[in-house]
Amino acid sequence: MLPGEFALARDLLEKAGVLDRVPPTPLELVLEYLAGHGLELQYYDPRQAPPPIKSVALRVDEAMVPQGSRTLLFVNQDRPWTRIRFTIFHGIGHFWLPGHRELNYLTRGCLMNPITNRRYERQAHRFREDMALLPFGMRAVESLAQRYIASLESALIHYITLADAPCAMVWLQPDYDDDGFRQQDSPLRVRYQVRSPSFPFTIRPGTRIPPEDNLFWLCSEEECLTEGGMDGRYLGLKPEVDLWVDCVPNGHMGVVLALVCPQEMPRDCPIYAEWGCEG
Ligand SMILES: [Zn+2]
Repeated sequence: MLPGEFALARDLLEKAGVLDRVPPTPLELVLEYLAGHGLELQYYDPRQAPPPIKSVALRVDEAMVPQGSRTLLFVNQDRPWTRIRFTIFHGIGHFWLPGHRELNYLTRGCLMNPITNRRYERQAHRFREDMALLPFGMRAVESLAQRYIASLESALIHYITLADAPCAMVWLQPDYDDDGFRQQDSPLRVRYQVRSPSFPFTIRPGTRIPPEDNLFWLCSEEECLTEGGMDGRYLGLKPEVDLWVDCVPNGHMGVVLALVCPQEMPRDCPIYAEWGCEG
C-alpha cells in the first residue's frame, strides 16, 4: 500500500464527516458528500443499459462517464451486494485520486479483478480497501494496538466495549490435541464473543463454523486479512441476519479474530427492498 491512497481515503472520510464511525464505512454519507462535488451514482440493469455505456454494460462492473460538470458512475446492479459495494468504492477512487478522472479507459468500464498489473486499477483497488476498512476496521485496530503496545485482542475489546455502534468481536479457533497441536480436519469454533452494548446478537461459544463459509476459512488457512458480507447462519444466527465481517489471523494455528457488525445498505440500492430492509 502506498501512503498516498491511504491518506487520500482518510481525507475523504474526514471531509464526509464519517471518520469516527465504525464499519462498515457508511457509503451513503460518503456518496452524499461526493454528490456535492458532482459525482452521481446510477445503478444499471445490464440488459437495459443507458446509451453511454450500452456497448460495455454486460461485461463490466462499473463505468465512469463525464457529463458537463458532473461525473456519472454507472454501477452494474446484477452483481452480489458485496461486490457492488467494492465496485462503488473503486469508482470513488477513480473520482477522488488525482489524475484518475481524466483516464480515457474509465468510460469503457472496470472489472473488479484484484489481480491486475494496471497501475491506476491497482491504485483504485488500494483506495477501495482503505475506504472500506477505515475508519475503524482491523487496520485501525492494528494501529491502535501498536500505539498503546497492546495485543490486537485487547485493543479490539477496548474499542468494542466503548463503541456506540453495534459491533462485536469473535474469537474463532480449531480444536487442539493434548500437545497443543491443531487437530486435523477440525472445524473452526467460536471460543468467545465480546459485544458492544447495542449489538443485538449473541454468538454462542462452541458454535461450529460450517465448511462452506469462505471468509473465516480463508483467514484461518491462508492467514490473510479478509473482509466481506456474510450471512448470519455462519455464526449460528438466523440466515436473514446480514453481517459485515473483517477478520485477521491471530497468532498461529488457525486462530481468527473477527470484527462483526450488522450490515447496512444504501436505500437506493435496487436489492435493498429484496432483503426486506425498507423503512
Ligand atoms: Zn477501475
